Amino acid sequence: MPRIENDIKLDFKDVLLRPKRSTLKSRSEVNLTRSFTFRNSKRSYEGIPVIAANMDTVGTFEMARALGKFSLFTTIHKHYSTEDWKDFAKTSPEFLENVAASSGTGQGDFERLSEILRAVPQVQYICLDVANGYSEHFVQYVKDVRERFPEHTIIAGNVVTGEMVEELLLSGADIIKVGIGPGSVCTTRRKTGVGYPQLSAVIECADAAHGLNGHIISDGGCTCPGDVSKAFGAGADFVMLGGMLAGHSESGGDLIEKGGQQYKLFYGMSSETAMKRHAGGVADYRASEGKTVEVPFKGDVEHTIRDILGGVRSTCTYVGASKLKELSRRTTFIRVTEQLNTVFGASN
Ligand code: 5GP
Repeated sequence: MPRIENDIKLDFKDVLLRPKRSTLKSRSEVNLTRSFTFRNSKRSYEGIPVIAANMDTVGTFEMARALGKFSLFTTIHKHYSTEDWKDFAKTSPEFLENVAASSGTGQGDFERLSEILRAVPQVQYICLDVANGYSEHFVQYVKDVRERFPEHTIIAGNVVTGEMVEELLLSGADIIKVGIGPGSVCTTRRKTGVGYPQLSAVIECADAAHGLNGHIISDGGCTCPGDVSKAFGAGADFVMLGGMLAGHSESGGDLIEKGGQQYKLFYGMSSETAMKRHAGGVADYRASEGKTVEVPFKGDVEHTIRDILGGVRSTCTYVGASKLKELSRRTTFIRVTEQLNTVFGASN
């Protein structure tokens, strides 16, 4: 007989953060920089823990340069050649500490990753990304990569439950990527019926990871700066963004002109667009297909970053956290049935 879990699981949209008495006068007093030491690599990190997703259109070298200026992080997508990496290392050495090289578990992925890390030894982070982090095959892959790269910091995912967070950490990963189904161009929930409400996934996975001195990334589902704050409030050490960083000058994808308006193409890593682009290469990358959408062109990503960081700083002042580190300790979520007043449109 199928089991039903009756505990209510929540998404970002189901909650708001409760304001708390605070001594902070202005959001400029809030420090968003965090430092971590990773469980297995023993390396340390310092920066503002917001990450551009390793998607074709978001995890670009241009994005890494723009985000790096703000101490943000970029997981570079896996379709750049070793030559591209060498060029980046030569022209932008100052941004190498804030990027990860990505890999799936497909054929040739391990060799490609090894070649990049050999050619650019300054890269300290590896992002091992599969749609379904629950397979034995993936766990073994994490172990193999750890054995081959004992001192690199390994990001691995995606999963949504505590027991799998623990298994991946014990297999050698340092940072676990959490999220199945919440992404803006993801169709997993529709195609497979599988998923987990992102806020609850983050709360539960953060608890499991922190018990083992591991870290987590909340990956997917952020639609506005308030959602980024909720993810941090729920206990995420890092927050990964795809859709919110799409549509900018630094995003990959062609600029399209239509009826006097400019758009940029944004697509899921297992969408038809991605499959066609990397013919054969990504067919097995994501279990389920993703969407392809046209995002209105938003100019330089710098404005969006300022907007996001300003929002998170402001959240911190509302709940009395002088540092991002204190945000989750100061967080009480209130369940709501409605969070935005949409009388003048949903996006304002
Ligand atoms: P967003 O910030 O756009 O809501 O979510 C970004 C995340 O969506 C990515 O980091 C990745 O985990 C996930 N994602 C990207 N492409 C696809 C896809 O084609 N299918 C699925 N299921 N998820 C995707």
